[in-house]
Amino acid sequence: MVEESGRQPVDGGAAARGTAGQSTAVRWRRDIHRHPEVGFTEFRTASLIAGRLADLGWEVRTGEDALAPGARLGVPAPDQLERAYLRAESEGGDPRFLPALRGGNTAVVATWRAAAPGRAFGLRADIDALPLHESADPAHLPVRGGFRSVHDGVMHACGHDGHIGMAMELAERITAQPPPRGSVTLLFQPAEEGGRGARSMVPRGVADGIDVFVAAHLGLNQPTGTVVGALDGLLANAKIRAVFRGVAAHASMAPHEGRNALLGAAAATLAVQGLPRFPGHETRVAVGAIHGGTSSNIVPDTAEVLLETRADDGAVNEELRARAERALRGAAEMYGLGVDIDLIGSVTTARADREAVALVEAAATAGGLRLTAASGESGVASDDATAFMRHVQERGGIATYTALGATLTAPHHTPAFDFDETALAPGVAFLEDLVRRSL
Ligand SMILES: [Zn+2]
Ligand SMILES: [Zn+2]
Repeated sequence: MVEESGRQPVDGGAAARGTAGQSTAVRWRRDIHRHPEVGFTEFRTASLIAGRLADLGWEVRTGEDALAPGARLGVPAPDQLERAYLRAESEGGDPRFLPALRGGNTAVVATWRAAAPGRAFGLRADIDALPLHESADPAHLPVRGGFRSVHDGVMHACGHDGHIGMAMELAERITAQPPPRGSVTLLFQPAEEGGRGARSMVPRGVADGIDVFVAAHLGLNQPTGTVVGALDGLLANAKIRAVFRGVAAHASMAPHEGRNALLGAAAATLAVQGLPRFPGHETRVAVGAIHGGTSSNIVPDTAEVLLETRADDGAVNEELRARAERALRGAAEMYGLGVDIDLIGSVTTARADREAVALVEAAATAGGLRLTAASGESGVASDDATAFMRHVQERGGIATYTALGATLTAPHHTPAFDFDETALAPGVAFLEDLVRRSL
């Protein structure tokens, strides 16, 4: 049973109307699922969150107050940002908050403070979707329930819609029954996918002063009814875009005058995939995309390569990244090309604090959730919540990254992904208990 309090949000979405019988978490999750937005284009999402929390009386920071634009990585092109912004305006984004977000400054930080001082609790909720075409299979719950993505080629396929839903219901509960002391800060982070958003929020001081920080991710191969106190072993990663620049020429009449950018991209791909393993460390390298060329009879003058490196140790990942960049430069040199190399995403590792894990485990147990250990599979992911964790820890606070079990219909980041919605209610209760015992 969900307690309703305060005014309803001002948007025109389903979250605002309040469907009978649905909890706040489910309403928000379904509305956000239906209107997914990829990293740094979360205009509708962020404006609705900010609007609702402001109406509940929370202190709200958005736009450049919540994120340093220059610290973002992998920001979409200006025309893509603008199209997404206009779409958000037409789809019921909150006009009070949209203008501050324009240009991709889509972070929201909301704080509630008790009259009496106490500890400061911080929860990260990531809000971005993925560039994926959602399944249209009638067996897929979003299809049956009428909340399949209305944005072609964009989909919430990681559970971040559920993170938003739980955080919004948590905020309502905190407002309805205020804790006697301390503060609660909800960090709604854009562009988690690719590790691009958290690093731009930290410099704005949004995590300064947080004593207990928790990031909770739904799913991660854990069934409904379970909690993993600490998902240690998250990998550091670096995502790189390299653009090779050559000289176009007729492929038959003057091939010797051309400089073939695609050859640089191909040679670099093989070199990167051939980087050595590091004994004693979990590492990954992957070239995920090559784009280049227009025709069979033109020597292509540009080619783009997207690749990533990952490791369970920041220094090892830095070494892998340096070697990958050397391979890119070497391939350019070999074919007489220029190459521009950009870091478009970067995530560090972090370790959980025992005391934070104990708080999580106590709250989980009190809520009837079962504690489980992380499976090997969930340990080879990355999440830039680690940027918040490290920042909090460096300033004397404690932190952990937890998994909140939710049975999945298909793996994360696939078109038929969905999580068990019945995990949301105990998830909110768990988070509320965690907040109250942390303050
Ligand atoms: Zn994801
Ligand atoms: Zn995720």
